[in-house]
Amino acid sequence: MAESAIQSFDAAGVRAEVADAIQTYLADRYGRLWPLCPEHDNGLHAVAQEGEALWWCRAKNHPGSRILPA
Ligand SMILES: [Zn+2]
Repeated sequence: MAESAIQSFDAAGVRAEVADAIQTYLADRYGRLWPLCPEHDNGLHAVAQEGEALWWCRAKNHPGSRILPA
């Protein structure tokens, strides 16, 4: 079994990693991808960008909502 560890050293990176871990947990447990892009209905990906953690829509390459806004 692979170990899971926080790799980031800044707050936004840690937020994105925690969000990603929660997303993976929910997908494993409930078989459902969350959150979804409200515009495109596909799964969003947690990213850290310019000091902010965001849900990112890869389908159309646009930002979704902020993750745990400070
Ligand atoms: Zn989208």
